[in-house]
Amino acid sequence: MKKIGEDVCPLRKKCGGCVYQGLSYREQLDKKQRQTEKLMGKFGPVHPIVGMEDPYHYRNKVHGVFDRDRKGNIISGIYKEGTHHVIPVESCLIEDETADRIIGTIRLLARSFKMKIYDEDTGWGWLRHVLIRRGFATGQIMVVLVTATPMFPSKTHFVKALRKEYPQITTIVQNINDRKTSMVLGDREQVIYGKGYIEDVLCQKTFRISARSFYQVNPVQTEKLYGKAVEQAGLTGSETVIDAYCGIGTIGMTAADRAESVIGVELNRDAVRDAISNARRNKVENIRFVCDDAGQFMVKMAAAGKKADVVFMDPPRSGSDKPFLESLVRMGPERVVYISCDPETLARDAAWLRGRNYQVEGTWPYDMFPWTEHTECVCLLSKRKPDSH
Ligand code: SAH
Repeated sequence: MKKIGEDVCPLRKKCGGCVYQGLSYREQLDKKQRQTEKLMGKFGPVHPIVGMEDPYHYRNKVHGVFDRDRKGNIISGIYKEGTHHVIPVESCLIEDETADRIIGTIRLLARSFKMKIYDEDTGWGWLRHVLIRRGFATGQIMVVLVTATPMFPSKTHFVKALRKEYPQITTIVQNINDRKTSMVLGDREQVIYGKGYIEDVLCQKTFRISARSFYQVNPVQTEKLYGKAVEQAGLTGSETVIDAYCGIGTIGMTAADRAESVIGVELNRDAVRDAISNARRNKVENIRFVCDDAGQFMVKMAAAGKKADVVFMDPPRSGSDKPFLESLVRMGPERVVYISCDPETLARDAAWLRGRNYQVEGTWPYDMFPWTEHTECVCLLSKRKPDSH
């Protein structure tokens, strides 16, 4: 066991990720609790934050960028905070350790296969990034290689060499990104080994996850978070439910057993495809998915006079938008379960809803991202009864 409170990472200052190093895990949790109370306490009770038993190597998704050092050696690692200067990384306090080892092996293979490393300044070269995802419950591993062009010299040999060292790698995807951009993934991809997705088990259901679909990075905490979200939805089996910003359908599918029907809405096409397949695979028959902007979807639902009893919403860090919130109020669900990865935008949206007949019943913070300053929350809002104030 590592000594808690130690500054264990030499890259602490350059990376900018684990800003809470130097604090004990207890101190980190206290800080997140205070921050959530400051933002959400004025609306309703903030329950004690749920932390991790072992707050290390929790990330199931790891990214590495390739570059050459001054001597021309291939390196892989992270961008120095706020720059495009690559700092070599061998291992990380919060990343999956197998994933880190695989990246090290790919770096060695890149040298023996004489792969051309992409140069961000000139736009020359081929290999840009690697992304690894590991299903913690299934052990399946996906490797995504991001390259500047669609060709792949010695593809078969490369796949063989990598799989020889890591038979757990069940799929390898080549993603093509030829743009000078800080976005890691491009729009095109080709599967070079396996099915093009991995599977993981969450809340007793199996989910397939494609390269470009969103999947929570900390599955241990995600199970606790979803458990709370579904509990607070107070489902009895007769409700019409919306799962907005649904990704691959994880929350909706966890809730479906206890609801009459569920509609998931999500903007990313690949995620919707995964969600539809996940419903079939888990034999969840009372759920369907729509590929649309969540706000626009809600506007159409409200205009058609559609109602929902419970709405789960799990927007990105920027929070929700006016069209979404206005239509939500028009549809008037009894309960809104807001899952948020940024308490600031949660507080903004909760304040808006509070002015329109909804009250915050409680906020439950979860530590999904130990050592970083980020906090995840479940917040229950309920429609005020006509006689209450
Ligand atoms: N509920 C899912 C995903 C949450 S992440 C889970 O727990 O795994 C937020 C999701 O919102 C992502 O899948 C992202 O693709 C999607 N998204 C972002 N903007 C959106 C929008 N305007 N409309 C619908 N979905 C959106």
